[in-house]
Order: sequence, then C-alpha cells, then structure tokens
Amino acid sequence: MGIKVAKFGGSSVADAIQLGKVKNIIDADPKRKYIVVSAPGKRFDGDSKITDLLYLCNTHIEHNVPCDQIYQVVVDRFKAMEMSLNVHVGLDQEFAEIRERLEAGEGADYIASRGEYLNAKLTAAYLGLDFVDAAGLVKFNEKGKFLDEETDKALSEELKKHDGAVIPGFYGTMPNGKIKTFTRGGSDITGSIVAKAVNAEIYENWTDVHGFLQADPRIVDNPEPIQHISYAELRELSYMGASVLHENAIYPVRGSNIPINIRNTNDPEHPGTMIVSQAKPEDDGRIITGIAGSKDFVVINLHKNLMSSEPGYIKRLLGILEGYGISFEHLPSGIDTASVVISKKQLKNNLGDILDEIDRKLSPDNVEVSHDIALVATVGTGMANRYGTAARLFTALAEARVNIRMIDQGSSEMNIIVGVENKDFETAIRAIYNAFAKDNRK
Ligand code: ADP
Ligand code: ASP
Ligand code: MG
Repeated sequence: MGIKVAKFGGSSVADAIQLGKVKNIIDADPKRKYIVVSAPGKRFDGDSKITDLLYLCNTHIEHNVPCDQIYQVVVDRFKAMEMSLNVHVGLDQEFAEIRERLEAGEGADYIASRGEYLNAKLTAAYLGLDFVDAAGLVKFNEKGKFLDEETDKALSEELKKHDGAVIPGFYGTMPNGKIKTFTRGGSDITGSIVAKAVNAEIYENWTDVHGFLQADPRIVDNPEPIQHISYAELRELSYMGASVLHENAIYPVRGSNIPINIRNTNDPEHPGTMIVSQAKPEDDGRIITGIAGSKDFVVINLHKNLMSSEPGYIKRLLGILEGYGISFEHLPSGIDTASVVISKKQLKNNLGDILDEIDRKLSPDNVEVSHDIALVATVGTGMANRYGTAARLFTALAEARVNIRMIDQGSSEMNIIVGVENKDFETAIRAIYNAFAKDNRK
C-alpha cells in the first residue's frame, strides 16, 4: 500500500474543533500514515498565532520585561485543547521545562519551536499515533544550513520503525543539539522532507483555502483555484509572495517526483491543487497560471556613459552588494544603465554606505534611488511562445492608471515581473487578474 504524508497548517490545527476535522481526514484514508503539524494558528480574524506569541515572549525576556501574561495565553490555549480532546500529555511538566529554558535564555528558535512540539504531542495522542520528535532527525549544520542528505537518512531510518506517526514541523537541531527553525511557514518544508523520507506517493498540504488560487484571496475576490501547476511555476509564485506554500517546500519532493496536493481542511471533498513536475496548461486552457507579488523593494538606478564597454562594471556593482551580504532580486539593464532591485528588509540601514561605495568605486554619472516599490509577477508556462500576452498585461495596467517603474521578463518566458509603486500594488494585481481571468475559466 502506498503512503501519503499529510501536513496540516496553523488554521487546520487551531483548536479541538479543527483537530476533529483532521481526525476525519486521517480516518478516511489508511494511506495517511505520517502527519506533520504546525503550531495552532488563528481561530478567527484578530486571534493570535501561537508562534507569534512565543516569539513575543522571547523578545520580552531578551529585554528583561516579564512575559507572564503572554505565556499564560499560550498555556491556556494548549490546556483547553488537551481538555477538549480528552488526552493527557503532561502539559504541566512540559510548560515548567519550557519556562525554565526560556528564562535561561535558550533563544528564539527554541521557544518558537515549542508550538509545533506541543501540538504534535497533542495530535499524536488524539489520533493514537506515535509522536516522533523532529529534534535529532531534521538536521542543520553549525551555521544553521539545512542538511538534506543527513536528514533524509536519519528520518527514513526512524520512520521505518513506526507504522504511523505525528512529527512536529518547522524545526530540527544543529550538531550541538540546539534547536534551529526554518524561516516562517517552514512546516511546509518539514512536510516535504518527511514525504521524501518515506517515499510517499503524494504530499498533501492541508490548509484553509481551496488550493493554490490564481491570486491572493485577500486582494482579489474569489480568485479561481489552479487545478494543476508545475513545480517551477509554483516556485516562482511562492518566491514572489504567494504565501500558501513555503518557497523552499518544493525541493525535497521535486527530486523524487512526489506530487504536492494543496487541500482545504474545511472542505475535504474539494480536489484542491496538484503540483507536479509538468503541468499541462493546454488541459486547463490557460495563458497565465497565477499572479503574486510583494511590497517594499528599493531600486538603485545607475547611469554611466559607455558603461556597456567597461568590462566588469556590473560585477563590481554586485561585489559591493555582496560585501553587505545582500542578494539582489532583479537586475534589469540597458546600454548605459543598470538597476538593482533589493528588498528593503535586506538593505537594513546600509543604503547610505552602499551609495557612497558605488560613488567611489564605480564613478557613475548619475544615481537615482526609487523607494517603496512593489514587484508583481505574472507567471505561467502558457505564456511562452504566445504573442500578445505582454501587450494585454501592459494595457490592463495602463487602463488601471498604474505607472510601471520596471519590467523584467525571465528568459523562460514563464514570467513577466513589473515594478510598481507600493500604493498601486493591489490595483495592479486586480487589473492583471481581470485581464486574464475570463480566458482562464473553462
Ligand atoms: P497554513 O497555516 O495552512 O500553512 P498559510 O496561512 O501559510 O496556511 O497559507 C494559506 C493562506 O495563504 C491563505 O489563507 C491565503 O490568505 C494566503 N494566500 C496568499 N496567496 C495565495 C494564493 N495565491 N492562493 C491561495 N492562498 C493564498
Ligand atoms: N508555526 C510556524 C509559523 O507560524 C511554522 C508554520 O506554521 O509553518 O511560521
Ligand atoms: Mg503556511
């Protein structure tokens, strides 16, 4: 019998009612043997995610401010779940230990990981499955880099011993035994790693929407779900900001050709989205697959006469950025111009120093900096070799009176990225969606 790995995100495990739905989903298919859970997320608009509360607690401790009230909210939520589910996992003892290690300055990663750890314990007890801790199995090196081969080996050996198990998402350990987390949303990566380790036939990622939608449902009303999408398209969309799946969740399963199925815990009959190595755009008759983006980029535009005949100019520009540990997002260039697009988060407070260094080392004729830029990516393998797509996209933006500050098209013709002002971000996404949505509907 094949094996399915099911990962449940924060809203799917937010309380005992949601865990009841999880149980029904697991009971409905005996192939669903290995379960990965996030920490409890929001139960309603305005609620707090356990992970956010735990980070907040740690920040308080770091600043010598008591965090008792916040900590108590976390304790109460888990205790309420334990009681409603009628299971006993020794929460008092667990919380006493967490508190002690928190006060001792164990650090943000450890405290943040406890949401997943405790939730996996509760879920395992409730589903009657073994609890298998990710600590010691999901491995990072001493610099915090994820070790895929070592992890795969340790995890597959351990999981062979369990006919079914619940594994906490989001974290693992470094060689010194310290807990290390992935970046936010990282339980998606754990799910993918587990799917690879047990050679699953499918990696099911259960969340609160009907799969991957053509645009962020918080921006576009009722966007169409995507039935099939390729790993490559999905990677573009998630990297650009479609937060439904962590951008790095593709890698572990991609190499083993394990499809990912994004499903809705609140509507388990819905087929959701299948992520496979080769989506068939002709089947869905679509030109574009999806639109995603994010705000807060800075663009540094350089102009220098005869730049193109000066060998190594761009290399030196990128060398300056490298010195600050900055990786750029895009690098559109003309004959005598070059622009680098950098996320504001990466720039930190270094912009002034970087501009000084550019001035000294590259002697540009002119440098302009554009702040508050948003990037919007329109993605789809259906766009390649088809004329008129770009014209339609730019017409839609012009009609919506959105000023385009930058254009970049990947050589694969799978995406067109435009830079617009932050304030036009939502308008741009809606305009592009409306320009293509009709065609995409079957
Ligand atoms: P989980 O807690 O299950 O991991 P997330 O909150 O990380 O869920 O991701 C699901 C959310 O992603 C949705 O509720 C939705 O608001 C948001 N989202 C953003 N872009 C998209 C998209 N293109 N398709 C679906 N959901 C999207
Ligand atoms: N709980 C973690 C977060 O909120 C990881 C996850 O949910 O995937 O980021
Ligand atoms: Mg998520």
